Amino acid sequence: MKVLVVEDEPKISEFLRSGLTGDGFLVTIATTGEEAKRLAKSDSFAAYILDIMLPDFDGIELCRKFRDDGITVPILMLTAKDALHDKVKGLSAGADDYLTKPFEYEELVARLRALIRKTQGYPRSTIQVGDLVIEPNQKTVQRGTTSLELSKKEYQLLEYLARHHNRLVTREMIAKTVWNCDTTTYTNIIDVFINYLRKKIDKENPIKLIHTVRGKGFLLSESPPGSES
Ligand code: CA
Repeated sequence: MKVLVVEDEPKISEFLRSGLTGDGFLVTIATTGEEAKRLAKSDSFAAYILDIMLPDFDGIELCRKFRDDGITVPILMLTAKDALHDKVKGLSAGADDYLTKPFEYEELVARLRALIRKTQGYPRSTIQVGDLVIEPNQKTVQRGTTSLELSKKEYQLLEYLARHHNRLVTREMIAKTVWNCDTTTYTNIIDVFINYLRKKIDKENPIKLIHTVRGKGFLLSESPPGSES
């Protein structure tokens, strides 16, 4: 399980690295906010441990930035400040928990585990479009009361459409994300898979969720494109 520690004080970051490594975590350390932002983009972590006083950034601002960018990774804030004011500020910026320095390592690791556990079984990861319910953790799909069996690729395509529901998704976006391919060579394949999904999701239902936007791409929505009035 990978954890990003954002901390500029070497004594504390090394203390965390040795403790967490011993507890089976893979620890990456960032010493500045910029480095943290770069790592957050290029790698995925189970949690961030974030110091508030960083050389280039206020950790609270950094936390808010992560949340604004749609990053939902649980964040544990660390700080020497123990004023209630900072705690409230940190939590309202989107941190999940808060620990003041000096802290006991045992308490930190217990809270970190609790945060990761909470996120991994989290109902907020459920994606719902109309009566279509997708559980990304279990990779299950349900329309109304009917469970649907999808192939791996069908599921990946549907999850991608659902994460962008009510927004146009182009074939290029799908090719790049679902097929990991930059070109539009996959256009035909994409159409084939959209048809597979239509058969499984929409065929038996009077309310169609998958819409084609001619010449542009697709849209997963309860209402067909251009129907809002
Ligand atoms: Ca610091």
